[in-house]
Amino acid sequence: MSKEGKPMSVCLHPLGGGAAAAPERQPVCVFGTGDMGRSLGQRLLQTGHEVVYGSRRPLGCGPLPRGAQVMSYAAASQLASVVFVCVHREHYGFMETLGSQLDGKVLVDVSNNPEKNLYPEANAAYLQSLLPGCHVVKAFNTLSAWSLQNGPSDACRQVYVCGNSTEAKRAVAEVATKMGLAVLDRGSLSAAQELEDFPLQLFPEWRLPLQIAVGLAAFFFFYVVIRDVVYAYAVQGKDISFRIMVSLANKIYRGTKYKRFPDWLDRWMLCRKQLGLLALGFASLHVLYTLIIPIRYYVRFKGWDYVITQVKENQTSKFDTTVAWRSDSYLSVGILGFGLYVLLGITSLPSVSNALSWREFSYVQSKLGYLTLFLCTLHTYLYGWDRFLRPSTYKWYMPPGYVLSLAVPSAVLALKLLLLLPCVDRTVTRIRRGWERTDPEEEKTLLT
Ligand code: NAP
Repeated sequence: MSKEGKPMSVCLHPLGGGAAAAPERQPVCVFGTGDMGRSLGQRLLQTGHEVVYGSRRPLGCGPLPRGAQVMSYAAASQLASVVFVCVHREHYGFMETLGSQLDGKVLVDVSNNPEKNLYPEANAAYLQSLLPGCHVVKAFNTLSAWSLQNGPSDACRQVYVCGNSTEAKRAVAEVATKMGLAVLDRGSLSAAQELEDFPLQLFPEWRLPLQIAVGLAAFFFFYVVIRDVVYAYAVQGKDISFRIMVSLANKIYRGTKYKRFPDWLDRWMLCRKQLGLLALGFASLHVLYTLIIPIRYYVRFKGWDYVITQVKENQTSKFDTTVAWRSDSYLSVGILGFGLYVLLGITSLPSVSNALSWREFSYVQSKLGYLTLFLCTLHTYLYGWDRFLRPSTYKWYMPPGYVLSLAVPSAVLALKLLLLLPCVDRTVTRIRRGWERTDPEEEKTLLT
């Protein structure tokens, strides 16, 4: 076809009405010369397909990938049995006029919508209702024009396909496979809505964990500000607001890193990985904030001030072995806990977890997970030591942040210990293996 819109003499194939896979030299038709149409066409050409574009303005549609033909929608649709519809849903109307040319062909709907629930039915279902004689297949909508142009990366190598005709899906799958993409069949066209919602998702599995993490961090922040800064100002007349930047921030990260949630809360169960990774992020921040303590002006000032006062007053302080033990144990247990935390984070990476057997994975995530929780909890207990017994610790009757942060992990560890009791463990194991208190058959008899 020339740019003037007349059919070119190349590659005219008699097309049957069936939706069989496209023969090797048969062109693939792309409707629309916009971003998606161009990128898709370019990729199709690179992988050895012939491409023919259908356009409203074959003469004035701008530069297209080298080697592609362009003609009117009606002419282009006659040349191929597989047609990629790279047109927005609002403009599907013109295809109704092509009804007879498109009958029996495979129409690949690549469209997306700007937001969810904009239309009563999926775009692909709408296209199928406009052209009942065609085989509509939903595919390629989860790939961006950019990724197609630049060669698909690992994250966007998958093409989800759904449609009512197996033959039509196979034809589309062949084209996609030749393009170096991995095809995933999602069933009939009724799955199209789900596929159209995919690109609109923005880290859906992270929403709840982030809300929880931000909520907890905000709670701890205001708690320690009131308890430490406001208390010091109101009761002692001291302005220690500068401590918000490091000391209080460190207390928040220390306070929010213990997160294990009750198993019966299914939604939380589903976001355990995200919560774990967020907790690892908080723990890492806690480590960094702790490492900078010696170089803080406030700390250096306090240290020198203490030494000078000792010299002036000719005093010496005795080395306290108990404090040394406590401090070394607290640091050492913390380091071990953090090390295991990092290990848990690494094993949650898909490339690592894929290399582990199910048993290995559950051993690391469950057994080492509890050990990590235990070490981090012990780290905080050693940090607090016996200070929680001193009345002066309870400013305005508020316990210190670390005491609050110990509540949930301590409860979880206590419950875990309970579950390990032989009598409880036996019952739990039986339940896991399918045991029910009431026999379903017996239940049926009782109900009738
Ligand atoms: P675009 O750049 O706006 O191109 C749309 C094309 O539709 C136009 O270039 C035009 O081609 C054709 N068209 C037919 N009738 C039309 C009409 N009445 N008014 C306007 N245009 C008309 O859009 P796009 O980004 O290529 O997206 C096309 C489809 O692919 C959309 O459904 C989109 O959701 C989907 N998609 C896009 C991407 C992406 O990254 N861009 C990714 C996945 C899916 P002619 O002028 O040649 O007729």
